[in-house]
Amino acid sequence: VGVFFRPVEKISAVIETYPKGIAGFRRYTELLDTRPDIADALDARPAPALRGEIRYEQVRFGYGTGRPVLDGVELRIAAGHTVAFVGPSGAGKTTLCSLLPRFYEVQGGRITIDGIDIRQMTLASLRAQIGIVQQDVFLFAGTLRENIAYGRLGASEAEILEAARRARLDQLIEQLPEGLDTLIGERGVKLSGGQKQRLAIARIFLKNPPILILDEATSALDTETERAIQQSLTELAEGRTTLVIAHRLATVRNADRIVVVDRSGISAQGTHAELMQRNALYQRLNGAQAELLA
Ligand code: ATP
Repeated sequence: VGVFFRPVEKISAVIETYPKGIAGFRRYTELLDTRPDIADALDARPAPALRGEIRYEQVRFGYGTGRPVLDGVELRIAAGHTVAFVGPSGAGKTTLCSLLPRFYEVQGGRITIDGIDIRQMTLASLRAQIGIVQQDVFLFAGTLRENIAYGRLGASEAEILEAARRARLDQLIEQLPEGLDTLIGERGVKLSGGQKQRLAIARIFLKNPPILILDEATSALDTETERAIQQSLTELAEGRTTLVIAHRLATVRNADRIVVVDRSGISAQGTHAELMQRNALYQRLNGAQAELLA
């Protein structure tokens, strides 16, 4: 299973030595941005407010010296549309998505947003406009308020509460005697898997980016929690260009377009109905999913 923020693992030991709370965390995020191999181009400019029309043009990328994971990838996503990526494990779905916030740099071709090559944008201004929801929600020792506010440092109390409401965290907050001041993490309240997902969603509502990447959970949340989270994610995706690394049939069926990724790159694109008619791999994946979900 792919993970976007691989550097987090490497420096996770560092964070524990930082002072608790938001000040320490800010430094931590600065660390996260200092990958020596990916930096602002000399002529990089802050990106304008993006609409979110995305194009991959002849994109090539590989991790090592071996065969590239992606080669000649052509992809166009209209602003505000949702695209679901499906395909076998290891095919390159995560890799494809992680090129957009430039966690890795394309080795051939280019990626544009609203017609601008993403390498022409400063990293900070690019990443400020992309929200990412992953399976592993990153929480730090601090209050619920601080953990939500990580979506946009400096957000007001009203904005934090509004984001919590939209992510349906408000019930939890009302139940806790200390509300938003409740400490979470090792020395505080332990959040359930579903609550962590909601917290991640609240952060993105607060950040309000035009572009969203969803790495759909493969793992265990009970069905009811799952459905409720799904509903919040659908609301989150509304009006944003959304790339979903999809594991669920329902997500795939609701997407504007489905992109089938296999080891040779993108092997087909279309709607659910179209792909069911003409793509053998998609039919197989659907069969397997349907069995799992049955
Ligand atoms: P999954 O559904 O399991 O998450 P995926 O389709 O998202 O799979 P990727 O995670 O993009 O696939 O992986 C594509 C290929 O690149 C795999 O062969 C994987 O082993 C390799 N790969 C992924 N991340 C790295 C990395 N950081 N370093 C080296 N190889 C990697």
